Amino acid sequence: MTTTSDLYPVSRLAAVQQATAAAGIDALLLTPGPDLRYVSGYEALPLERLTCLVVPASGEPFMMVPRLELPAAQASPAARLGLEFVAWDETDDPYAMVAARLGAVRTVGLADRMWALASLRFRAAMPGAEQVLAGSVLRRLRMRKSPAEVAALREAGQAIDTVHRQVPALLKAGRTEREVGRDLHDAILAAGHTTVDFVIVGSGPNGASPHHELSDRVIQAGEPVVVDIGGQLPSGYCSDSTRTYCVGEPPADFAAYYAVLQRAQEAACAAVRPGVPCEAVDAAAREVIAQAGYGEYFIHRTGHGIGIETHEEPYIVAGNAEPLEPGMAFSVEPGIYLPGRHGARIEDIVVCTEGGGERLNAVPRELIII
Ligand code: ZN
Ligand code: ZN
Ligand code: ZN
Repeated sequence: MTTTSDLYPVSRLAAVQQATAAAGIDALLLTPGPDLRYVSGYEALPLERLTCLVVPASGEPFMMVPRLELPAAQASPAARLGLEFVAWDETDDPYAMVAARLGAVRTVGLADRMWALASLRFRAAMPGAEQVLAGSVLRRLRMRKSPAEVAALREAGQAIDTVHRQVPALLKAGRTEREVGRDLHDAILAAGHTTVDFVIVGSGPNGASPHHELSDRVIQAGEPVVVDIGGQLPSGYCSDSTRTYCVGEPPADFAAYYAVLQRAQEAACAAVRPGVPCEAVDAAAREVIAQAGYGEYFIHRTGHGIGIETHEEPYIVAGNAEPLEPGMAFSVEPGIYLPGRHGARIEDIVVCTEGGGERLNAVPRELIII
């Protein structure tokens, strides 16, 4: 059982502070969202009132919190960090308070998902400071998962696998995508997730739209159905897995390209090892699909990193020369989409280890005929 202290170690704050100094940034300003959660473990409510963990390159970090949020902040994992909580009252200007405490700064790193509302207020409060993304500091840390983080992702993989095992019982000709989706939503929660982040049930032609979610379309006999599901576990780590099913016997051309897709996904997983550039994993899948003549129907990158966000770095895409390192975790999800007809995708989460790629999803990848 991984604990909060394993996943969000107290030592991380000092590591972040060092990395901030090394990057020549004077302070990170982390408002509610994944960056704040990564550094402190605090899942703060995103509100118009400013909550902000301020991590100066040198000196004491502090957390600015609205007075009414103080009890929540004190009860959160951020309390373990031993930092000062600075409560501000309704008539205070918390942005000016942060600026006054920091003094002269040349460069500040804003949480990647900070609201424009806050970033513009910070700009006004520190007119001389250049604003950059906190991600420029945090990405290196966030990309390389610790053993505890890998364990949390493995647990997420097992949870979503139990949902995929239930799909054959839920997918039936005559049911709508939305009816199936509602059952999947419940099953994702029952499998131990705290949130359902997305449910894609793409039947027939809807399967050709990679991010189609749910519609009232009635699933027909003989149709392929793309099912892509994911959510967040209590650990804060995410699941994301796709399998393609067929309700009855598949169309002949579909069966042919599904076999190609399976080989492509296999080739990409096999390409994973330390030192290999992200783009080479993408190329491994793309080559198999292109050689079989379906290149123009593979219309997205091969994968995305995953952790406390479903989509984060590293991206498995042409042009990304970032070499894989042990601990990097990402999806391998090639797809083939025939507009107006049907589509297919196979998606596993893979973690790069010293010895190669380890898949965190274990349900069969063969076409599942129901
Ligand atoms: Zn996606
Ligand atoms: Zn997915
Ligand atoms: Zn994905």
